[in-house]
Amino acid sequence: MRDHLAGPGTGRVGGRGGDRVTVRVPAKVNVQLAVGAARADGFHDLANVFLAVGLYDEVTATPAESLRLTCSGPDAGQVPLDGSNLAARAATALAERAGIEPAVHLHIDKDIPVAGGMAGGSADAAGALLACERLWGTGARPEELLEICAELGSDVPFSLVGGAALGTGRGERLTPLEVGGTFHWVFARAEGGLSTPAVYREFDRLAQGRTVPEPLVSPLVLDALSTGDPKALAAALTNDLQPAALSLFPALRDTLDTGTRAGALAALVSGSGPTTAFLAADESAAHAVAAALTASGHCRAARVTTAPAPGATVL
Ligand code: ATP
Repeated sequence: MRDHLAGPGTGRVGGRGGDRVTVRVPAKVNVQLAVGAARADGFHDLANVFLAVGLYDEVTATPAESLRLTCSGPDAGQVPLDGSNLAARAATALAERAGIEPAVHLHIDKDIPVAGGMAGGSADAAGALLACERLWGTGARPEELLEICAELGSDVPFSLVGGAALGTGRGERLTPLEVGGTFHWVFARAEGGLSTPAVYREFDRLAQGRTVPEPLVSPLVLDALSTGDPKALAAALTNDLQPAALSLFPALRDTLDTGTRAGALAALVSGSGPTTAFLAADESAAHAVAAALTASGHCRAARVTTAPAPGATVL
């Protein structure tokens, strides 16, 4: 569905207290995802290096009688439109803090794969939070918005700030990182999704009987980001969830191999998958990888983009 709220050029200019606010918010790839053993509370400690990439959802907030959600885009049918939607939860959380009703229509124009390991739901939560803050003029400070984000989910604070950042704890404590150049990426959408909790359960199952090392940030990843050197970053990329994602979705191996054969410097599962990510030396190499992936039939679509991308931005 594409409705009247989401057409290009119809987004209202940003500002407070107006009648429509559109926020653009990026997807992420984890250039390092080191996962520790399951803690007593079931969560895992992480050393998580996030990089925001140029695939975006747009969240438009307009005044309404009560909270209402609509969604457009290729995966719109898979997005829940009830109170479980992270964008709805974000609007409700902000309204509660401000002591007002969440009387808003949120329209999500979705380009980020759903259940794809690219934090699409988290992006929508951050987008909705910023859009509602601007629409309602609550005066919430950036630190307060980040606090609400952390309550909503461990990837949500990063969706708000974008760029590159180190996430510790469950991923929600962020330290911004410098990036010294533009990286060229290709993302291949898989047929179907993977549930993040299911991938962590598989990680725990595969970890049975062995000692899981403490997750530590890789200095190689940090150096490669700061110098902007794609070869160095390709050599340093790691994702501890990849074996679990491949175990649940073995066909991803063919997709990874196709991208590698087509010249990608590195191929990996994005976060909990099943989107796969390919780092290329430059833009033309990225297009060659995308063409090979598309021709292979191993994925639903392959998209070329760059990183780092800015965080949630009022259009
Ligand atoms: P992550 O990378 O943060 O683990 P993901 O990218 O794999 O997440 P999402 O697209 O965020 O996955 O969706 C995970 C599940 O969350 C979906 O299957 C859906 O049921 C639910 N969900 C809630 N809100 C949203 C939303 N706004 N967009 C997409 N999915 C949502």
